[in-house]
Amino acid sequence: MDQFDTRAIQHLDSAHYLHPFTDFKDLRGRGARVIVRGEGIYIWDSEGNKILDAMSGLWCVNAGYGRTRIADAVYRQMQTLPFYNSFFNTTNVPAVQLATRLSQLAPPGFERVFFTGSGSEANDTNLRIVRRYWDLMGYTGRHVVISRHNAYHGSTVAAASLGGMAGMHAQGGLPIPGIEHIVQPNWYESGQGLSEEEFGLQAAQALETKIREIGADKVAAFIAEPIQGAGGVIIPPSTYWPEIQRICRKYDILLIADEVISGFGRLGAWFGSTALGIEPDLITFAKGVTSGYVPMGGVLVGQRVGEVLVEQGGEFAHGFTYSGHPVACAAALENLAIMEEEKLPAQVANDTGPYLKERFAQLQDHPLVGYANSFGFVAGLNLVQAKGRTPHDNRSFAPARQVGMTCRAHMFNNGVVMRAVGDRMIVAPPLIMTKADIDEMLARIRQSLDDTLAELQKE
Ligand code: PMP
Repeated sequence: MDQFDTRAIQHLDSAHYLHPFTDFKDLRGRGARVIVRGEGIYIWDSEGNKILDAMSGLWCVNAGYGRTRIADAVYRQMQTLPFYNSFFNTTNVPAVQLATRLSQLAPPGFERVFFTGSGSEANDTNLRIVRRYWDLMGYTGRHVVISRHNAYHGSTVAAASLGGMAGMHAQGGLPIPGIEHIVQPNWYESGQGLSEEEFGLQAAQALETKIREIGADKVAAFIAEPIQGAGGVIIPPSTYWPEIQRICRKYDILLIADEVISGFGRLGAWFGSTALGIEPDLITFAKGVTSGYVPMGGVLVGQRVGEVLVEQGGEFAHGFTYSGHPVACAAALENLAIMEEEKLPAQVANDTGPYLKERFAQLQDHPLVGYANSFGFVAGLNLVQAKGRTPHDNRSFAPARQVGMTCRAHMFNNGVVMRAVGDRMIVAPPLIMTKADIDEMLARIRQSLDDTLAELQKE
């Protein structure tokens, strides 16, 4: 392997590179970990440490690292046509092929796709599309979009407003007008005294209350992740989505499923909407479409909206230089071919997903783990100071202790990447993981939990 001068890279890094979602001063003090290579489910840092990447980069490297087929497809496309735009009545072949392929993989009725460079841009596009749809339908006052607290829909001004992250809203006067938020379906945190099913209904009914408060004639759409990802892998009770669907239909509100994480096999189907029985009007995608090898996102547009945009629309005054970028589309086509040949969504649904669920649930015997659950290839566990008779009797750590960060550091030391969301530790492994890989991941997680407990006991 190449030799890296870690100190020199860290020095230049902190001098010149402003990282996303980072306390710059804090990072300058500690120095960033320099990741230099990836293969399969592993990454390597500049010091030669081999780390099992249980987060698939940032929920995106679904097909795993080191796929030379994708690199070759990108190389070929760059030599043939590195760029051309899709404005002004032009198109390119990979974009046409990918749009066609996506409409085949998507749930029935999704015939059309609008490409973007990222998930954030795709959600901005959704905001534009749903408002345009209602304008074209003659309901020009129908512009409000309802979302949920603790949702993550991206970092542009509109996407961050659609999201429900208080810390993001606090910086820069967000949300922008016309966006409202309701509760998230987090039974563990908010379902005291209710069964999961009762709580799921109650959380969904907050949508109806909000629609009535605003006036149904003002509401354009509801947006949600099938399973909240960055919010901490919040798996909704089984009653939640059917009730949301009922309410959207009753008030004729468009439903946007943000599948940036849940798309492309992560929940054991090509789209999470299928896995959870949701029937959205619009689907946001990004990340797994290229397994993160190059940036790409987009919106899959269902029949109801698609027909109106196309048949009645006139010019839709929206788009990006990199909409339908030929190189990104070539990468996506090759990535999807790999996922299809290796049957990764079905493998997650029938084989490795159930195994991950079983192994993850076993972590609940650990003294630090108050609640552990999973769906497909996302999973999370809550660290607790003391366990009670039911999950709602658990005693949490003081937030200031930041026990999640302590645990995350031990994970890194034991060669596994797990993300901390407060005191909830989450994973979203590459879909190529075998059962043996899952065993290895769980062994490292358990060791890290032991090390975290030992550190806490010393305090
Ligand atoms: N939506 C969801 C559900 C996401 O998880 C993310 C990214 N983590 C985004 C949107 C934003 O995507 P991007 O970072 O590509 O803009």
